[in-house]
Amino acid sequence: MTESRKKLVELKNLKKHFPIKSSFLKKGTQVVKAVDDVSFHIYKGETFGLVGESGCGKSTLGRTLNRLYDATAGEILFDGKDIANLTNKELQPYRKRMQMIFQDPYSSLNPYMNVEEIIDEPLEIHTNLSKNDRKKIIIDILEKVGLKKDDMGKFPHEFSGGQRQRIGIARALSINPDFIICDEAISALDVSIQAQVINMLEDLQEEMNLTYLFVAHDLSMVRHISDRIGVMYLGKMVEISKSDELYNRPLHPYTQALLSAIPIPDPIKAQNSKREIISGELPSPIEMETGCRFRSRCPFAKSICAEIDPELKQVDDEHLVACHLY
Ligand code: SF4
Repeated sequence: MTESRKKLVELKNLKKHFPIKSSFLKKGTQVVKAVDDVSFHIYKGETFGLVGESGCGKSTLGRTLNRLYDATAGEILFDGKDIANLTNKELQPYRKRMQMIFQDPYSSLNPYMNVEEIIDEPLEIHTNLSKNDRKKIIIDILEKVGLKKDDMGKFPHEFSGGQRQRIGIARALSINPDFIICDEAISALDVSIQAQVINMLEDLQEEMNLTYLFVAHDLSMVRHISDRIGVMYLGKMVEISKSDELYNRPLHPYTQALLSAIPIPDPIKAQNSKREIISGELPSPIEMETGCRFRSRCPFAKSICAEIDPELKQVDDEHLVACHLY
């Protein structure tokens, strides 16, 4: 799927911190470090999976990359241009090239707009096309996502969950973007529908030359679609690897625990498999201590882990890990 090694997106030391009000007992400003010094890149034409437990910062990272949130610090290079501090006006041409598909297709679609109006909205904002030309694009994109011309006059409540997600995908694709952030885009769907939507996203990627950031909490879900995968833990990237390599040779203790939590459908294999259960306390994202953030839950923690935060370093071709064991 990686058509060329050109980087479309590159994040350098990206931070997104949310200040929170100090309480009566705790004076001074406190911050939640939702994304804390994260660097990685996404090649043009590839699918980069981003995984981690709920609250690890992966959705915040997607929204900061897309400039729905302003970054606290760091660079967001899109096609070589740092867009982290651009004004809304300067951002306009980049917004057209980056679109988002959200988790809940029902709440992300305006219930008072019909399908034609929903898909027409970004076309009207980002293009100078006539109503007639926009209508032709809407009919074409509906066909691409497996819906019909007759669906244009219907409203979101008249569709199933899977069909509503197809409308959300059609809306994102209507302005012919280069980059799509799929933010838990299939998590709310039934397993059988998830497979259909994933297959459709792969076909569309090939046909429209798309690059995806696929955010999900479930590692089994991203395996099929991703070329490379990044694993996040409490605002930090702890491992990045090609997809197959990550499943066959996970290095970070957190990745190993996440993988062993994936249910095994074969009961005999499941009985014989050794499961790493993550135990220990999850540190507060507000008062982050020094050292490795995973150490209170890590079975391999040693003294250096309490003192020095391990840096993400390359251990093999395209395989990076942030752990003092390597
Ligand atoms: Fe465990 Fe230490 Fe590695 Fe952190 S740095 S994952 S505590 S071994």
